[in-house]
Amino acid sequence: MLAKHLSTYTNMPFWLADTSYDRTFQTTPRYQMPTKVDICIVGGGFTGMSAAITLARAGMKVAVLEAGRMGEGASSRNGGLLGPSFSKLGVDGLERQYGRENVHTSIRESLTAFNWLVDFIREEKIDCDLNLCGRFRGASHPSHYAGLIQQAEELSKVVDFPAIEVPKSRQHEEVGSNAYHGGVVYPTDGALQPAKLYAGLAQIAVSEGAYLCEHTKVRNVDKQVSGFNVVYDGGQLQADQVIIATNGYTDGQFSEFKRRLIPIRSAMIATEELPESVVQSVSPKLRAHGGTERLVAYYRPSPDGKRILFGGRAFGRGDQPQLYSKYLQDFMIRTFPQLSETKIDYAWSGLIAYTFDHVPHIGKLDNLHYAMGYCGSGVGRANYFGRKIAQQVLQLAEGKTAFDEFPFKGRPLYYGTPWFLPAIMKWHDFADRQGW
Ligand SMILES: Cc1cc2nc3c(=O)[nH]c(=O)nc-3n(C[C@H](O)[C@H](O)[C@H](O)COP(=O)(O)OP(=O)(O)OC[C@H]3O[C@@H](n4cnc5c(N)ncnc54)[C@H](O)[C@@H]3O)c2cc1C
Repeated sequence: MLAKHLSTYTNMPFWLADTSYDRTFQTTPRYQMPTKVDICIVGGGFTGMSAAITLARAGMKVAVLEAGRMGEGASSRNGGLLGPSFSKLGVDGLERQYGRENVHTSIRESLTAFNWLVDFIREEKIDCDLNLCGRFRGASHPSHYAGLIQQAEELSKVVDFPAIEVPKSRQHEEVGSNAYHGGVVYPTDGALQPAKLYAGLAQIAVSEGAYLCEHTKVRNVDKQVSGFNVVYDGGQLQADQVIIATNGYTDGQFSEFKRRLIPIRSAMIATEELPESVVQSVSPKLRAHGGTERLVAYYRPSPDGKRILFGGRAFGRGDQPQLYSKYLQDFMIRTFPQLSETKIDYAWSGLIAYTFDHVPHIGKLDNLHYAMGYCGSGVGRANYFGRKIAQQVLQLAEGKTAFDEFPFKGRPLYYGTPWFLPAIMKWHDFADRQGW
């Protein structure tokens, strides 16, 4: 069944239209921008803001330079699903490359990262609708169910992370769809309102004395005898150290990072407000959800429980809501035929960054500190890695992470334009249809 309504949606993240969202933090006016700082952070998303808080609290003079509006990248555009993101690690392949013990340490640290963010939000009293609602991951093909159970069992040998097996006969307790063949519930995963989390972090960073400079795209970073000269649109500043926190938006001026990242566009739609019974017919326990497809879809109720937010891959170059909104709406209706009459109010997209080994990377390259490559799972990771890279800049022992052990590699003849993606997407689409 295909969408009947090609809705007159608004092309902006639902999160920014949410009536409980308030962008109260103060940015630095151009005439007050510093000319000399201890640390300059390029990119004002979760990574940059988390690093800024840690550094400012340690007494450093910090400026965050953001090309667009503060938080305009993926950090205010994502689905707000929060978990340790184990399934993104590609554990078997990683073990072959980096050894079992390193990989197990990184799995344990992924859980630490998730727990740290939950504690941080609570301790700082950030109002971001954090809800540890749990997540149902459905087997999108009969052959995937056994793999899901096995994956949960393997993980339980490494970390204390509960998972509940849900056979197909009982899946309607978790999801109002026949599109799955059983699944697993991760009862401790969560969901939050990402733009509210971002605004809360920015507020803390400002109150700790960080300079948040928007519409200041960095054009060049020059290493000098001592420190760096950072040239941005309309000015320049001196910094002792620089952190690159540009993730999926990494551009040509940082070519050594760009060639190690695969930028992928990810998109979301938000339905119109629905009766409670309809939202519960999709997600009876108001959990976060996803499937085992290669071209993955993820979805959740809005924090007020009135809408369904549905996300997945986008198509075409740039932001083309006319393409991805229809694709996502059709995907949603195939999964939930009860939404065939539902209108779409918002459609938006943003850029994520994959890496060739499917793990995020953190460290120092060409004298520049960096943290990036969260492979589409960055709500917890970007916040945690932002803090860790700041601790590394401060040369603190707690800045060490298991991920330091994984070398950040590109591929020969790849310079950051993923010409191969359309072919890979087609292959994944074909494999999804076969249930591979
Ligand atoms: C549609 C969508 C849905 C997602 N859903 C989820 C989810 O449910 N759960 C989850 O865990 N993750 C999700 N993610 C991923 C998550 O949002 C990201 O991994 C995370 O926000 C990355 O944070 P960041 O700070 O590293 O990068 P970003 O928030 O992307 O910030 C990077 C910033 O760098 C700026 N920049 C780039 N170049 C320059 C320059 N030269 N000068 C100055 N500034 C520059 C950009 O303008 C941008 O604002 C999703 C992403 C998208 C797009």
